[in-house]
Amino acid sequence: MNHFIDVIIPVPLKKLFTYSITASEANFLKAGMRVAVPFGKSKIYTGIVFKVHNDPPVAYEAKDIQQILDDSPVVNEKQLRLWQWIANYYMCTMGDVMRAALPSAFILESETVVLKNNTKEIDESILKDDEFLVYEALHHQSSLKIHDISNILDKKHVLPVIKRLIEKEAISVEEEVYEKYKPKLVRYAKLHSSFSSETALQKLLEDLSRAPKQRQVVMTLFSVSATTKKPVKVSDLAAESGASTAIIKSLIDKEILEEYYIQTDRIQYSGDENEATKNLNEYQEIALKEIRESFNKHSVTLLHGVTSSGKTEVYVKLIEDALAHGKQVLYLLPEIALTAQLITRLQNYFGEQVAVFHSKYSSHERVEVWNQVLNNTTKAKIVLGARSSIFLPFNNLGLIIVDEEHEQSFKQFDPAPRYHARDTAVVLANMHEGKILLGSATPSLESYFNAKQNKYGFVEITKRFNDVLMPDIELVDIKEKLKKKRMKGHFSDRLIEEMTETLGEGHQIILFQNRRGFSPIVECNTCGNSPQCPNCDVSLTYHQYRNQLRCHYCGYNSAMIKDCMACGSAELDNKGFGTEQIEEEVKLLFPEHKVARMDLDTTRGKYGYEKIITALEQQEIDILVGTQMLTKGLDFRNVKLVGIMNADNMLNFPDFRAHERSFQLMLQVSGRAGRTEERGKVLIQTYNPYHNILQQVSTNNYIDMYNEQMNDRYNYKYPPVYKQIKITLKHKDYNRVDTASLWLAKSLAQVFKEHVLGPESPPISRIRNQFHKNILVKIPKQQSLSKTKEAIIKINNSFSAVKDFRSVKIILNVDNF
Ligand code: ADP
Ligand code: ZN
Ligand code: ZN
Repeated sequence: MNHFIDVIIPVPLKKLFTYSITASEANFLKAGMRVAVPFGKSKIYTGIVFKVHNDPPVAYEAKDIQQILDDSPVVNEKQLRLWQWIANYYMCTMGDVMRAALPSAFILESETVVLKNNTKEIDESILKDDEFLVYEALHHQSSLKIHDISNILDKKHVLPVIKRLIEKEAISVEEEVYEKYKPKLVRYAKLHSSFSSETALQKLLEDLSRAPKQRQVVMTLFSVSATTKKPVKVSDLAAESGASTAIIKSLIDKEILEEYYIQTDRIQYSGDENEATKNLNEYQEIALKEIRESFNKHSVTLLHGVTSSGKTEVYVKLIEDALAHGKQVLYLLPEIALTAQLITRLQNYFGEQVAVFHSKYSSHERVEVWNQVLNNTTKAKIVLGARSSIFLPFNNLGLIIVDEEHEQSFKQFDPAPRYHARDTAVVLANMHEGKILLGSATPSLESYFNAKQNKYGFVEITKRFNDVLMPDIELVDIKEKLKKKRMKGHFSDRLIEEMTETLGEGHQIILFQNRRGFSPIVECNTCGNSPQCPNCDVSLTYHQYRNQLRCHYCGYNSAMIKDCMACGSAELDNKGFGTEQIEEEVKLLFPEHKVARMDLDTTRGKYGYEKIITALEQQEIDILVGTQMLTKGLDFRNVKLVGIMNADNMLNFPDFRAHERSFQLMLQVSGRAGRTEERGKVLIQTYNPYHNILQQVSTNNYIDMYNEQMNDRYNYKYPPVYKQIKITLKHKDYNRVDTASLWLAKSLAQVFKEHVLGPESPPISRIRNQFHKNILVKIPKQQSLSKTKEAIIKINNSFSAVKDFRSVKIILNVDNF
């Protein structure tokens, strides 16, 4: 009998590839293990075994695999089923899903990983036979690529042997990819045991009196570890004592200090373990009871709780429930809301059981969490993570919490898989027969609609914790203010008044402006020309700090121009405004106060965001100017005033969700004001204070907003009433994409009739030199989604068969948010 495996490889091909394996490999291999496979003429890919079977492929001769990379699966069966669901639902390939799902360290290119002999002499007698074979081979060749070893050893032994050789320090690898097998060693030091007595220590300090720096190291070590007798991290010791690591090294050489290497987890635990969870107030208690009851009927339940109602503490109780049943918990939240504030809060309750999965962490840190989840260790019973943590290999998931469930960032736009983490999490929870709680102060229309249809359970908390009042929201008409000359730059007299009062009381202020940079448009006063991005169909944004013009779509930048590029006039004007400009104006208005800015430009790097948050918490900042980054679940005690600089550009954004989003954004930012005893104040500056959304925001009227927006969605056949699939075509030649999109829209209309809209050029019709066209297919609830997709795929296939269209890129976006 012949043996085969179907393998998922990270390429955008529709079908899985079949490879041939030996009988012994068939015994060994399981779905979810990695294999290195040849592909095309010369490529080698890391693939995931999807299925082991006996059916040869029909259309081609199966090649042999090159080597087996695991001795047990790294992806479990439930995950593979989830991958399949995602590929199906979001119309992408399994390879696309694999690329998003696996930490990049798992996808290794066995061609490029080079093994080397360790320079250190080792005792060869500790090597087993198979290990010795590889070790020997390296002696003769000084370096080997991993796949060369497949000729020496049986494929399934290669990786385990390499792993053992690395552990025995017999060989090393050039690629950091293999870090996964290398425990991370951290250097520690402690006082040598010969100085453990008081007198010996006294003598030592005397001896060192003429080497003050060395003496300082010993003193520091003594002060930090005398009571615990624990070794201290060398890097910490250096930082504390102000001595260089070279000085510490010299103390080690003199045998005054002893050196240790301790294997540590990369993710440091920082909380005070096992603080008791809080007693809930009556509203939280009722909500908790209702959620538990709701879970008996609905695996999905929506918790609509106003900002600062104490939702997190309710989640904590549910987490306790799940842990008591020995289950794993996934706590999903938008990337940016994954703050130290929240992590510490959970670690205080649950200690080391909390793991964090974050895209700003290195690939190795992510592999570590991955393995903990895979092995269901106590260390990652609760995973706190952003979007991609739905891909972790849970095997016993009892509860998923999706906090800030309305957040747009749960949807991945580019590249494929274009999945929505909240909706995928619902599927994931069902696979585990677990429960899922969606929480928000401003639920998405989708979730609220599902709750109203009784598809989801529904629970509310309408009061803030501790009877703190909802903030007082005031609309300021800037058109009036301009007329009466009561504006200073972008600040109305009302805003300045409130700011002055707030600062006088020693409280802090947050100012929200949803654009970064200094001014979005630089315009010539003579001819009206404004500098455009050479690659995209947008105006460049002026960034004053670097005196640059930048494109926010492709990253293009150039030095600021002095004269108009069209007519040479020197009269350039800044139109519109961004966070930089607001920051500058505030500094002029309140020169004696500390002002900071939080946007994409000031928060790069792993801790960029955290630093600003901490500074605000520590009250080192009086006024913080920022973009939507400010809205996310932060809890600041002392912020009393929130100013929204301009509500209109959000409301006028060309998207059917613009009004819903503006409502959510404004209420979320408002929620940052007055979270303690004193009532917070919010000022919203606008040209149109009578806009319905602004009225609904100022009265915190979610229901009115919901009903009005749903009315529009019914009338114009938008989600959640209709489902929709957006098809984007891209090409560098405008005529080609134009013809192609007309052809495609016409073919689709033959099947879907009036439910096809477009082709249309999007508001920004060229990005990175590619022209875009959009076609929208609307799908009534009663129409089968899978049949619709089949029809679209069929039409796409005939599209691709047209020679002229072959180079046109097609992007499918299901439930495009
Ligand atoms: P939400 O997530 O609904 O915005 P939080 O859970 O952050 O609200 O709670 C708001 C504030 O109230 C936090 O500072 C939190 O520590 C506090 N809090 C909430 N519930 C309790 C409780 N049961 N006991 C003590 N403090 C609480
Ligand atoms: Zn000009
Ligand atoms: Zn650009």
